[in-house]
Amino acid sequence: MEKKEYLRSLSSVNDLIQAVYRSRKLGGGVPRELVTEASRVVLEGVREAIMAAKDEMTLDKISTDTDELVTLVEKEVEDRMQCSLRRVVNATGIVVHTNLGRSLLSRAALDAVAMAGADYNNLEYQLEDGTRGSRQVHLQKLLCDLTGAEAALVVNNNAAAVLLALTTHASGREVIVSRGQLIEIGGSFRLPDVMSQSGARLVEVGTTNKTYLGDYRQAITSETAMIMRAHPSNYRIMGFTSEASIKELAGLAREYELVLLDDLGSGVYIDLTEHGLPYEPTIMRSLEEGADLVCFSGDKLLGGPQGGVILGRSDLVEAMARHPLARAVRVGKLTIAAMEATLHHYLDPERAAEEIPTLAMLTADPEVLRKRARGLAKKLASEGDLEAEVVEDVSRAGGGALPMESLPTWAVAVTSPAYKANELEERLRAAEPPVICRIKEDRIILDMRTVRDDEVGIIAAAFKSMMSGED
Ligand SMILES: *Cc1c(COP(=O)(O)O)cnc(C)c1O
Repeated sequence: MEKKEYLRSLSSVNDLIQAVYRSRKLGGGVPRELVTEASRVVLEGVREAIMAAKDEMTLDKISTDTDELVTLVEKEVEDRMQCSLRRVVNATGIVVHTNLGRSLLSRAALDAVAMAGADYNNLEYQLEDGTRGSRQVHLQKLLCDLTGAEAALVVNNNAAAVLLALTTHASGREVIVSRGQLIEIGGSFRLPDVMSQSGARLVEVGTTNKTYLGDYRQAITSETAMIMRAHPSNYRIMGFTSEASIKELAGLAREYELVLLDDLGSGVYIDLTEHGLPYEPTIMRSLEEGADLVCFSGDKLLGGPQGGVILGRSDLVEAMARHPLARAVRVGKLTIAAMEATLHHYLDPERAAEEIPTLAMLTADPEVLRKRARGLAKKLASEGDLEAEVVEDVSRAGGGALPMESLPTWAVAVTSPAYKANELEERLRAAEPPVICRIKEDRIILDMRTVRDDEVGIIAAAFKSMMSGED
């Protein structure tokens, strides 16, 4: 048969739709528009396959049989009726993995979200006198109590916090930033672009590796409104380097009545060195050293929901809260519920590291990880045809925190004679739920730092169905 005949033998969209309804496999409630779209997509796919076929043999394999097309349409409809946002198993070992949803919430935070979603609440209602209240009160007092800050404001994310700070306090004026801190963070947060969006004019000082206090001083004019420091997050300048400290910058800012903004990025509350982790500047340290405004993400090392926390001088924070942009970037009630519950954990810092999943994973006992790895390796070995070895490896914190530090971890390295490493990776990604892992030296690496005990069985099951060819 020739291509033309193949194409001619395909049913029309309308006939295919009729055939789908005749087969009665789909539920009666499936929207007709969805069936139509799926039928169109399936026919288009077959048509493209026919056009692309290079020889008779490939062509022969393409079915134009209506019954088979009906099955394809049914599958397409089912795929489209699945939720797009799905649970995955994170076996990458990257704790704050932006592509996989950053921080997981604690049990208490999840309960708070469930309450805020299921029941009416006092979001903006003062129970004392029955009048209208502010949604910020639920977080303000707690944030100030925890950090000693004068005032607090929470917005949609840290990008919004930076934009709001710059717009409110430096629009139409100059902001001085070190060239070593003009960062771009994954997913389109580029400091110079945020700056121009705010209407502030960026004044770069120093060089990539060295910026001195004197460089800042020299750049100050009558137009200067702010000095900004940004955490370099996902990169480090190493070797021959120098940066002015917050303390030094605070002194300069005082002298010229400028605002000193410190974008911390990750927002670490507890001293990580106490848990054997490398030092990250904490929120309190920045405030104590004299930053007027400090901002950070809620879902990086803080371990809460997406959000942007702003702390600092009350006159500055209040002006930001009153700015029209604040309404556009305000937080929702589910975020407030999760954030309040997360912050509550920090009232007991010892337990916080256990209860907040992000901190628990970062500070996990290597012996626990090793045991988990052994458990998984044993399960996989019983699958036959798989080689699973418990190996020492390193995980990353992610989220722009501790970028150069690698945390010693335990993982399971897997190979199979049946599949190459990239095929294994692909098949794990197609499992239900998908298992996300990395490849190293032609082996699949399943890092136990970000895998829960109850997920070990899920990973084993994904391999099992793969090896038995069920998927
Ligand atoms: C991550 C990060 C941001 C952006 O924070 P989001 O909460 O993702 O909006 C801004 N600045 C720094 C330094 C960061 O590390």
